[in-house]
Amino acid sequence: MTLPMGDEELHELAGKQAALGEVRGTPARDPVNAPMIRHWLDAMGDENPAYLEKGVAPPAMAQVWTMPGVRRSAKDRSPVDDMMAALDASGYTGVVATNCEQTYHRYARIGERLIPATRFTDLAGPKRTALGVGFFATWTVTWYSSEDDEPVAEMLFRVLKFRPRAGERSSAKSGTYPLQPAINQDTAFFWEGVKQGELRIQTCADCGELRHPPGPMCPRCRSANRSHTVVSGRGTLYSYVVHHHPPVPGRETPFVVGVVELPEGVRIVGNVVDCPIEEVVVGMPLRVTYRRMDGQLVLPMWTPGEA
Ligand code: ZN
Repeated sequence: MTLPMGDEELHELAGKQAALGEVRGTPARDPVNAPMIRHWLDAMGDENPAYLEKGVAPPAMAQVWTMPGVRRSAKDRSPVDDMMAALDASGYTGVVATNCEQTYHRYARIGERLIPATRFTDLAGPKRTALGVGFFATWTVTWYSSEDDEPVAEMLFRVLKFRPRAGERSSAKSGTYPLQPAINQDTAFFWEGVKQGELRIQTCADCGELRHPPGPMCPRCRSANRSHTVVSGRGTLYSYVVHHHPPVPGRETPFVVGVVELPEGVRIVGNVVDCPIEEVVVGMPLRVTYRRMDGQLVLPMWTPGEA
């Protein structure tokens, strides 16, 4: 069991964890393999045949190979785990990833086994953020090949571990829903549509391709000219998770986060509401509904609809 710590003790622990340097973890349970690469390419919608033809993994899969299973053993613990446990025990139970930077040194080849090595680098805080007071924790993971000990890829990861504010009460006090979307010139049309009860999907003004989430450039023809279309607001549930933990400011757990496939051809992420969780099922027909979160923000959500 980890005991609650004060800010100074947390920094002391962070210093100890950083002093451990790079700590090698358990080698991947399986070597880099074609079936897993195929699943990943399917999930990502990546049709590039080059990976399997050349017998290498897409570099962005680096983390896949050494993901711990559901049952983690004590020897799988990295210097980050003790830091996270101490932050949790000290009340900083909220977590949100803020940075992920990956560097690829070479392709991981089918048949080789990767070994993760974790280095805890920094703890900054406590800082006041929109989510609550918290610490930014940073670490890097380098994946080495068990064959030649070469580094294959590395990743810098930073999270904000925060003390969640009591959602309902703080919202009522400030009148503002604590999780505000990032509205910028790429996404403003979407949020303006939502306020008017329209589900707008970005289109390429040149080739007409729909894309979501919105972005600056068409992935099909590379045009930067964009427009949008108003879609029917019908869809089917493509996939979902039930969020139990960690607590989310302004929300009551558990809740359902779905990936909704629109008949117009794109997928969109949103909460599935007005449906008991045990009745949520992949493939169910849905229709969009608009929920007012505060004086300004309206969020599109999904409710059971007719097929
Ligand atoms: Zn286009």
